[in-house]
Amino acid sequence: MTDHRPCIECGCVTPDLVTGERIYPHRKDLYELKFWLCPCGAYCGCHPGTEEPLGATAGKETRNARSYVHRVLDPLWKTIPPQYSGKGKLEPHQLKSMMRRRVYRYLAAEMGISPDDCHTGMFTIEQCRQAYAILRKTTYTDVRRWVKEQQKREKA
Ligand SMILES: [Zn+2]
Repeated sequence: MTDHRPCIECGCVTPDLVTGERIYPHRKDLYELKFWLCPCGAYCGCHPGTEEPLGATAGKETRNARSYVHRVLDPLWKTIPPQYSGKGKLEPHQLKSMMRRRVYRYLAAEMGISPDDCHTGMFTIEQCRQAYAILRKTTYTDVRRWVKEQQKREKA
């Protein structure tokens, strides 16, 4: 039995496990994928190759809102600013994964939530709006400055 977070839309915790054929009937390439489908029509995907849900089931509006968050969030860690590239000891993919962790930690702190809950797949529409408002005026330099201040505080 998989533990489910309550559906974002209706609070139900007993979604059905279905395949991509049910969710995306016009996408044969997604038929193999597994999804959790709530009786209300909200759904979420699974971690690749597992039945482990990616967050909580959500309806169309929430999924759209999450994709807006990704539009401002992903460039923050997927694009290495020139001033940080090629200077440290990290390979670009290591640098990006560090940047990603930092960006999510920063966002969690700004939103006042635990880093464990800071995944777009778990966000409600309200949290998406909050995240979007924070991230659209954030640069990686802001995130980096925040991380350095945190580190200084931890040492003090
Ligand atoms: Zn539901």
